[in-house]
Amino acid sequence: MGNIIENEQFKTNLQQLLQNKKFKRTLKVIYKEKQGQLLGVQSCEIIDHFHTIRQRLDSGHRTLWDSFEHNCKIILDLEDRKRWFHQCKICSTKMEQEKGGLYCINCKQNTEYKLAFCLRAKIIDANSQDSYDAIMFEEASQYLSLNGKKISVKTFSNLNLNSQNTILEDANQQKSDIIHLLQLQHISKTDDFKIKKIMPQKTERQSQK
Ligand SMILES: [Zn+2]
Repeated sequence: MGNIIENEQFKTNLQQLLQNKKFKRTLKVIYKEKQGQLLGVQSCEIIDHFHTIRQRLDSGHRTLWDSFEHNCKIILDLEDRKRWFHQCKICSTKMEQEKGGLYCINCKQNTEYKLAFCLRAKIIDANSQDSYDAIMFEEASQYLSLNGKKISVKTFSNLNLNSQNTILEDANQQKSDIIHLLQLQHISKTDDFKIKKIMPQKTERQSQK
């Protein structure tokens, strides 16, 4: 009673919050108060909680283009053979093969390069079991292992196809039922997800709780 609310953005966001029952939302309000009266709203933000990746995609949420964290399982694609690429050392772009060698279309010259992982995978949303295409870059060297040790892209690329397949199969056998907290980014151009980071495990197997 008697509260004065003048901030337009606050009203708009509050209406949005009340109308949208699809998502669990939190309203964070910083306001000015005098003797129990709400005098004005300084700032107002709706914090979204998405239970599934699908909800996030359907909402077109802004974090999709930045990155967000979600619990998923990872299943590596054994069929895809493009498992690494030549990466420009200056700008990280994938280099193109040209007559004169490797060319960076971004730097517009034959720059120095290094090898980089690009593993195709499926990620399974732990909350909905929906699956999505994904690609793993530098995190692959943490995820894959050879004789219990991390494996560099250089070592991996020097192995024959059978040995590479064995490494991927081992990873799938040992880890495909583990739920990882992943830092993901949606790539709208290809409609897949970049696995930016596999967050450290809080518990050994969260699926067992
Ligand atoms: Zn470059």
